[in-house]
Amino acid sequence: METRAMNSGGGNGADAVARLEDVRARIDEAARSSGRDPDDITLIAVSKTFPPEAIEPVLAAGQRHFGENRVQEAREKWPALKEKYPDVTLHLIGPLQTNKVKYAVRLFDVIHTVDRPKLAAELAREMEKRGRRLPVFVQVNTGEEPQKAGVLPREADAFIEQCRNEYGLDVIGLMCIPPVDEEPALHFALLEKIARRHGLKNLSMGMSHDFETAIAFGATHVRVGSAIFGPRSPRKPAG
Ligand SMILES: *Cc1c(COP(=O)(O)O)cnc(C)c1O
Repeated sequence: METRAMNSGGGNGADAVARLEDVRARIDEAARSSGRDPDDITLIAVSKTFPPEAIEPVLAAGQRHFGENRVQEAREKWPALKEKYPDVTLHLIGPLQTNKVKYAVRLFDVIHTVDRPKLAAELAREMEKRGRRLPVFVQVNTGEEPQKAGVLPREADAFIEQCRNEYGLDVIGLMCIPPVDEEPALHFALLEKIARRHGLKNLSMGMSHDFETAIAFGATHVRVGSAIFGPRSPRKPAG
């Protein structure tokens, strides 16, 4: 198995648990100030780059939704953790290559990054084969950034319908990652608007620095990494 230098977790497990409680309190507060029920918001703890030793205390504290952005890294970390905590829901929040679909469908419980017909078709085929019909989000590249994954906003309507009707995927919502240098609220509002016209109830949006704004704009799934696990050290690009 490949070894990779992983982050130690910006301190010990107690730090992560204290930060987790703080994030939960901030989610509750943000929900209430928008007149929303905090129970309608799922906190996904993004554990990418952190080793199992950093994740375990957060599991022990009761957190059950986790996000990873690389299939290979998740395959190294999560089978053992899932065996110990079978009620964990694991979310794939990073780009998915078609040649990794078979591993993704086996290990993950929700896929947030469906963004092209070839991937949708491959997911549909693999889910059928495994008898595992996972809920999925369609990722929208709201900032139209060339380097970023996601379907373009003007192509989103047709793609969402294609995922549902042609591939029979269980599309439950939309996901976006706003450009770092822009006001995220505009992107959250755009995502919400597209979701609404398709009757999609779930919005995967909001990260450590903007999850409260995302909640004000209707986020149902916030993906929070560094605010829980501490800062990540940079790593090499995906090989
Ligand atoms: C890493 C990552 C996050 C979490 O980012 P933080 O800023 O650490 O909260 C959320 N979503 C995606 C898609 C990510 O890759």
